[in-house]
Amino acid sequence: MKPLHDLHAVVTGGSRGIGLAIATSLAQAGARVSIMGRDEARLNAARESLNSQGLEAASTTVDVASETSVTRAFTTARESFGAIDILINNAGIAESAPFAKTSYEQFERVVNTNLKGVWLCTQAFAQDLQLRVDGRSKRVVNVASTAALTGYAYVTAYCAAKHGVLGLTRALALEWAKKGVTVNAVCPGYTDTDIVADAVANIVAKTGRDAVAVRAELAASNPQAKLVTPEQVANTVLWLVSPGSEAINGQAISVSGGEVM
Ligand code: NDP
Repeated sequence: MKPLHDLHAVVTGGSRGIGLAIATSLAQAGARVSIMGRDEARLNAARESLNSQGLEAASTTVDVASETSVTRAFTTARESFGAIDILINNAGIAESAPFAKTSYEQFERVVNTNLKGVWLCTQAFAQDLQLRVDGRSKRVVNVASTAALTGYAYVTAYCAAKHGVLGLTRALALEWAKKGVTVNAVCPGYTDTDIVADAVANIVAKTGRDAVAVRAELAASNPQAKLVTPEQVANTVLWLVSPGSEAINGQAISVSGGEVM
């Protein structure tokens, strides 16, 4: 039997990038996966791609920054696949600007998506804690960032939000430790997704520098001199939610080739 057989996993931001890699990996391990994101067409395409590989997946739109939207989306997910066993808080946005040029709206957007979104989705998941009757433990994995572990220039809002995610992870891990739930974070370094493509385009637009050189510079921050792949992050998440890792709790696992230890 597959390790995640009969478990329902919700992956926010599961329509592309790291989230889609996680959704694929969990579904391949036997989970029924609900992917969530804002863009319906993109979500439908991701769900159809998973289904065409013979994987069990449903999708529902959500804005993780809106309480009403999160409540509705989690209700829909339970209608598709039953009580939720695994929550992957992955949805996020990255915006950069010097601190003095960061508007309040930008700060609010980044914190609302990256921190408040994790809080709201985990609140929604709290309803599912009582529902498992066969004794299998439940899991929360928050996709934070190396920016949860250290500072970087020009991303104050992002760093503040991701540090907040780690605080939430550590506090909730202790609070839920006796309830058969583990709460952990993974902290990727620069990973080859739209976020990095957008960051490169942003730097090129602002500085006029060569895109290939900018991308190579981002990759060079990793001691292995390459971008992390979404699948490498997904492999770490799969390990955290698989049977046998119940003793791993409240951890922040750096997936960065050793950039941040
Ligand atoms: P992508 O931009 O490729 O994907 C982001 C996902 O989040 C999309 O599915 C997007 O869907 C969804 N999303 C964004 N905002 C919302 C929202 N308000 N409500 C619901 N869904 C939302 O990013 P990555 O895969 O790179 O990033 C995934 C996570 O990993 C993020 O939390 C990011 O901070 C983190 N991370 C990424 C790193 C990188 O270098 N790529 C490094 C470290 C951490 P849609 O746009 O349709 O809503």
